[in-house]
Amino acid sequence: MHYLSGYGIFSTMKDKTNVQIRNFSIIAHIDHGKSTLADRLIQKAGLISKREFRDQILDNMDIERERGITIKSQTVSLPYQGPDGQQYQLNLIDTPGHVDFSYEVSRALASCEGVLLLVDASQGVEAQTMANFYSALEQDLVIVPVINKIDLPSADIDKVRQQLEVDLGLDGEEALLCSAKKGIGIDDVLKAVVEKIPSPKGSNQSPLEALIFDATYDPFRGAVISCRVFNGALKPGQMIRMISTEAEYKVEEVGSFRLHRQKEKQLICGQVGYIIAGIKEIQKARMGDTITLAANPAPAPLSGFKSSQPVVFSSIYPIVSEEYKVLADALEKYKLNDAALVSQKDSSAALGQGFRCGFLGLLHLEIVQERLKREFDRSLIMTLPSVRYQFLLKGKDTPIKVDNPLHYPEVVQIEQSLEPFVKAKIITPEEFMGPVMKLCLDRRGENIRYFYSTRGRMEINVELPLAEIIYEYYDRLKSVSRGYASFDYDFYDYRAADLVKVDILINGEKVDALSLITHKQWARKIAAGDPATDV
Ligand code: GDP
Ligand code: MG
Repeated sequence: MHYLSGYGIFSTMKDKTNVQIRNFSIIAHIDHGKSTLADRLIQKAGLISKREFRDQILDNMDIERERGITIKSQTVSLPYQGPDGQQYQLNLIDTPGHVDFSYEVSRALASCEGVLLLVDASQGVEAQTMANFYSALEQDLVIVPVINKIDLPSADIDKVRQQLEVDLGLDGEEALLCSAKKGIGIDDVLKAVVEKIPSPKGSNQSPLEALIFDATYDPFRGAVISCRVFNGALKPGQMIRMISTEAEYKVEEVGSFRLHRQKEKQLICGQVGYIIAGIKEIQKARMGDTITLAANPAPAPLSGFKSSQPVVFSSIYPIVSEEYKVLADALEKYKLNDAALVSQKDSSAALGQGFRCGFLGLLHLEIVQERLKREFDRSLIMTLPSVRYQFLLKGKDTPIKVDNPLHYPEVVQIEQSLEPFVKAKIITPEEFMGPVMKLCLDRRGENIRYFYSTRGRMEINVELPLAEIIYEYYDRLKSVSRGYASFDYDFYDYRAADLVKVDILINGEKVDALSLITHKQWARKIAAGDPATDV
């Protein structure tokens, strides 16, 4: 986290007419109720009338509403009067829970002083509860545990308190109780936010340091940058400088996020808000960069973010090859809003020019594909997803990395081939144990272990090749367990494997974009026309 000058202690003693700021995020496993709790907080703050309200109001993208999941982090500023009469501005950042979007979460956390760690009272602590908890801990944030869904008949509050202590080392007795759905315990949650989460540090008088953590593209106004001000203040008319790209712009508008953008006179130290500065060359607004004032620049940038680590790769081509430029432009704009997507130019003899893209997982790939299609109104061709293999070549010490079948090395040069493995956790009702185990074995699962997690539910731990789960694995798992099994994975290690390249010929001609690298065991089946042809 960013440690800045010691201003925070005194700011709590300032006179009551002054508005105080709290920046916090809600983190949890998927479906534990983050977006629903955000709804309740927004309603309490009176930001929206009954008539305008709809459930999970921050999930405003069509895909989010269709699938009932959060994909993008969203910020909203809530006015709140504390029990002591003090006025607060609570900047809430709602975050996604699925593992593929953990990069969104880590960026949101860099803008906060604390988090509400939400745990479903009937499900207890789960994989993403742990993962998000550790990201918050790493950034030195204050963690306030909240047990949600206490209205459910299956709620087991004592057990969750115990898990908080044993699994996470938190004080289970201190956890707040609430039901986001029924609106129980919401006042206690707000009170804890202002009492337990520290106010931001820093000073309005220091040189400006504002961290870019997100952006969207507005066709009329250019990039709309979401930022957190760690030091200094900013007004329209001032010249800003992006520290890493050195580009300078005149600020047109600043403001905070209510449910829509709300223009303000200035952004002050500690605030989360937006900046519009007529930025049309979007590469200049880089995620993780620091904005400062051209006239009085900060000496060094803030620490920024780790770059994202893609695990699944696929090439994207326009259907009409003349539309390459349009696709390039669309992708640039899209990347402004999805910092996790990596891409570079790619070309194929059959499909022309396109982009090789790296994704954080399969859901991420699916979402990118859908968002690109919808938001930019273009049909795309995507090649079969691939993982990143390693090949140790004869006479060499370090393996080369290959995520594109076009770069598969000459067979005679290969000393050893390696493929990535994941550590997967599957939870299923016990009656589906048989078929779920069979699926794991069919997909070359290793070191399978299982035990009862709760009564009637089995937990299976298995090491699987990543390549085996990127193609129709999830659908198969859902179908053999009638939709009940849940699946989570983490990248684990690289292991030796017999890897071959399969080329596909159409009318006797090799089509390079259809080539794929696969385990020898599948090569014949794929060549016989199984999944490889439906790109
Ligand atoms: P998120 O993935 O963490 O954002 O979870 P959502 O807010 O989308 O909620 C997931 C599901 O849990 C939705 O169907 C909610 O209606 C439900 N839910 C959320 N909070 C509660 C609660 O306090 N009680 C009950 N019974 N259901 C809840
Ligand atoms: Mg959500």
